[in-house]
Amino acid sequence: MARTRTEILIAGGGIAGLTAALTFGRAGFRTVLVSPEPPVTEGAADRSDLRSTAFLRLAISLFERIGLWDDLATTATPLNMLRVVDTVGWPPAIRDSREFDAADLGQQSFGWNLMNWRVLQGLIRVLGGMENVELRFGTRFSAMVARDNEVIVRLSDGDSVVAKLLIGADGRGSAVREAAGIGVRTTHYGQKTLAFVVSHPKSHNNVSTEIYNEGGPFTLVPLPDVDGHPASAVVWMNPGSHAQELATMPAVEFEARMSERSCYMLGPLHLRSERRLWPIISQRAERLSARRVAIMAEAAHVIPPIGAQGLNTSLNDLILLRDEALKAGRDGLGGAAMLAAYDRCRSTDIRRRVAAIDLFNRVTRSPDPRMQMLRLTGMKTIHDIAGLRRAVMRAGMGAAGVSS
Ligand SMILES: Cc1cc2nc3c(=O)[nH]c(=O)nc-3n(C[C@H](O)[C@H](O)[C@H](O)COP(=O)(O)OP(=O)(O)OC[C@H]3O[C@@H](n4cnc5c(N)ncnc54)[C@H](O)[C@@H]3O)c2cc1C
Repeated sequence: MARTRTEILIAGGGIAGLTAALTFGRAGFRTVLVSPEPPVTEGAADRSDLRSTAFLRLAISLFERIGLWDDLATTATPLNMLRVVDTVGWPPAIRDSREFDAADLGQQSFGWNLMNWRVLQGLIRVLGGMENVELRFGTRFSAMVARDNEVIVRLSDGDSVVAKLLIGADGRGSAVREAAGIGVRTTHYGQKTLAFVVSHPKSHNNVSTEIYNEGGPFTLVPLPDVDGHPASAVVWMNPGSHAQELATMPAVEFEARMSERSCYMLGPLHLRSERRLWPIISQRAERLSARRVAIMAEAAHVIPPIGAQGLNTSLNDLILLRDEALKAGRDGLGGAAMLAAYDRCRSTDIRRRVAAIDLFNRVTRSPDPRMQMLRLTGMKTIHDIAGLRRAVMRAGMGAAGVSS
């Protein structure tokens, strides 16, 4: 049984964990990452993550800083505008719509959209050139003993790693969080979302479109063309049983249903990928740290996929954690002062974002006509009062006090 010494051990090889490995590697820390499986880095592969992520400006600056953006930029699509459409009934009837333009904040775009498998591909490629980062796939975090000046971690293959800091980026069911004795509050909505890729005859013009109706939003996020046709990633939220039915219905029937749900805004939609189902929950850890341990990303918070908040919030965790590690230096890395500062700086922003999206989800998915009226009035009020519109757009774009 081998024992390795390192400065930072990261559990979790999703986008958050791999980006953390690259960020800490670039910051000069010796880093080991463990994860049960290597990431799937091809779109057509069996277990490929068919979600896309709208990376907002702070995330893009982080990618630039860690040398990842050059690899990703060629397949990223800019998001210059967000169109919000309010509909009721079936077939959905449009009541009203509003457009939120990045130019209103003096920006050309809110961010860039990328397929998740493509981001994983870029991360693996760039991490391959890092001498101070070791990726160990095929093993997982199993148990730990935290001491005053180090943490000893046992892996599932029997090896152990001794580190100054253990970072739990091991997803919503985090074993690191549990071993550290950190509790979570979870809300189950009984909703599921479908994620898939479509092509359509009309151009998306780099506009992301969110179409609200009971059950949750139907969101079209711009992608590069597929076989010469304009394309978008779709996130379609529904009550669980309905989502299940949509996921398994014949493709032709599904295409008719989703085109109707999209109000044909981009013309008839043509399915270009498998349909993947994701359960929707809201979850927040009671703390972000324990002795020699920091948790981040979905190990710390899960947010319904509305307004591109999930992974962007996770990257804000990472930026703060890196800054605190650099401030603490090698001697203070993983120490109580560094971890308390991380907890203090991130907790409020995370609490607010989880609460805001939870409330938004409850109001927007409701079949109650009074809630549907509130949804419509809310959309118009937020948009039509210029100061409020800009404040909400700014809040959605990033966390106060975080800069890449
Ligand atoms: C449909 C959909 C659309 C979304 N769109 C957006 C968007 O536009 N913008 C946005 O910001 N966010 C978005 N999100 C949220 C975003 O996708 C997630 O926040 C993100 O993918 C989670 O990444 P993660 O690395 O935290 O977790 P995961 O991807 O779950 O990674 C966790 C990793 O830890 C590994 N692991 C598990 N157990 C262990 C262990 N014991 N030891 C070591 N490793 C372990 C797992 O194998 C996995 O590799 C969306 C979510 C959904 C569902």
